[in-house]
Formats: sequence, structure tokens, C-alpha cells
Amino acid sequence: MKEYSEELIEEIKDNIDIVDFIGEYVELTKKGKEYFGKCPYHDERTGSFSVTPSKNMYYCFGCKKGGDVISFCQDHLDMTYDRAITYLCGVAGLSAEKTEISSTVKYLKKATKKKKKQHVPVTHQILDKKILDDFEYRRITKWIDEGIPQEVMDKYGVCYDKNANRIVYPVYDNNGNLINIKGRTLFDNYKEFNPPIPKYMNYYPVGDLDYLQGFCFKKDIISQYKEIIIFESLKSVMKLDSFGQPNSVSSETSEITMFQAKTIIQLHCSVVLAFDNDVSLETILKKETVQLLRRFTNVYVVIDKKGLLGKKRDKNSPVDKGKEIWDELYRTKIKL
Ligand SMILES: [Zn+2]
Repeated sequence: MKEYSEELIEEIKDNIDIVDFIGEYVELTKKGKEYFGKCPYHDERTGSFSVTPSKNMYYCFGCKKGGDVISFCQDHLDMTYDRAITYLCGVAGLSAEKTEISSTVKYLKKATKKKKKQHVPVTHQILDKKILDDFEYRRITKWIDEGIPQEVMDKYGVCYDKNANRIVYPVYDNNGNLINIKGRTLFDNYKEFNPPIPKYMNYYPVGDLDYLQGFCFKKDIISQYKEIIIFESLKSVMKLDSFGQPNSVSSETSEITMFQAKTIIQLHCSVVLAFDNDVSLETILKKETVQLLRRFTNVYVVIDKKGLLGKKRDKNSPVDKGKEIWDELYRTKIKL
């Protein structure tokens, strides 16, 4: 069978300046050795999309999409793989000829590809609970003002890091082991610092997301309710607790990892996905893990069709505008 050779692919990448090429479609600004711009794959205000010329690669820190000039043609310019190769050969002045590749070479290629795909989970470490003593117990008025009573924060061990002016809270795995401290800055102008300070930060490396934040407290409640509601952050979980609905957890991102999906399937209950309002129904539907969940259980999605949560770029959680709006969004959730 004839195919494009590995050498040709390398030649394409060597001959096309990825910054110039992507620069035709995305406005890029140089920062150090990399170039940054607004991601063409997701809606955003800040430029999370990076192009690294030394690696001939692009990567978005927001939606995690990444690749080379070929995948850019496929994803962004909607070309097939073959069309992308012929097109790029045209750009680079190379001839796009397929060559005969022996079945042995093909087999080896496939085998190495498979190996790369097999993902070995990076496990987190179990921490000594004494580390929590480094933080101060203090009323977090900022969050009380946002409608989270102090009793709810106490339940999750919310504390204060006076050295960094951060709200901090412990992160437990599904078995209740302490694995991380997560902190959110209390500086409103955190973006103006030089160097800028992150809004959220992990105090310890977390590895793969093989847990659901808050889950260790909620196992019994979820089985009573026969439903699990999933948010992007523990703060949303706390807000829903405050509204009197205790059966939620946080997946920590706007998607469900394979590890999390396995946990959810074993619960034998309905799933309600309640991600922030910048995540579209189409994006959710495309996810492999969502497809998997649908095969085992009823999956619902909370979607803000009427714009009750404000602009998408504000990335509001469905609980951010109070109980009434949450109730309305929850009542009109869509069954996948
Ligand atoms: Zn992106």
C-alpha cells in the first residue's frame, strides 16, 4: 500500500514556518521563545493559544488542543489528511508523492503508536493532614457575601493562607485521603501583578484527575438521591449545598476524565452535567466519556439557553446567579 513517507512529513514540517503559517489565521504575539494568540478552537478573551517554533507545534492551554501544521489544516481548515499533505506540499514546494511502505514497517509504526496512546495514570501522593495546620482559620467574608455560609465552608475545611492572601481548601481523593491543597487568590487585581499570579493554584502536584472533588463526603447522599450533579469547581458544590441540594461534586475541569467516568458508572445513578456557561452542548456531546456515560445511565445537561447567567466569556457557573436561576436551569435541563 502506498502512503506518504515519514521523511516527507518531516520535510513538510521543516520547510513550513509554523508561525508564519498559523499567523495567517491567528494573530500571534511573540513572548520569549513562543508566540501567543486567541485560540481558534474555543471562545476566549485571553490568548491561551501558543505556537512553539522550536518544536513545530501549537498548543492551547485553555482547551488543550495541539498539534502540527498538518493537524492545523485538518482541524482549522477542515481538510482531510491527504488534502492537508498535498496542500502543504504545495506551500513548501515539495512533491506530494506516496511511496510503497512495507507491511513490516507499517506494523512497527502501528505498534509504537499504540504504545504512545496507552496512558499510564500519574498517581497523586497521599499527604499528611498536619500540613493543614500551616493555614489559618478565618471567616471568608468574600465568599459569605457570595452566598456561601461559613458552616458550609467549615464542612470543606476552607482556610486562609496569610502568606499568599489565598483562600485554601484541602483536596481529598475518592477514599478521603488528603492529596492536595488548592488555593484561590483574594487579590482582585491578580492579573496586574508582575509576574502575574494565578487565580487558582495547586500546592502539590495532582497527577491525573482520578477523583471527583467532594465525592468522599457524598457517597451516601448521592445514592439516596440516585443522582450526581457535576460542576467544574468545589465552590459551585458549596453554593449548591447552600441552596439545600447536597448531591453534587466537582470534576475540576469542563470535562469528565475516563477515571471519573468509571467512578460515576459504578454509582448506578443519573448524571447531571452542570459546567460553566462557556461550555456548549455540542462540546459536551463530542466528549468520549460523555458518550460512554450515556451507554450506562441517564445523562442530563444544564444549559443556559436564555442567557440567565450573563455573557459566556464571564464563565459563570449555573449556581452563580442565585437559587432561583439555578432552580430554573435545573428544571429545564436537557436529557442527552
Ligand atoms: Zn483553545
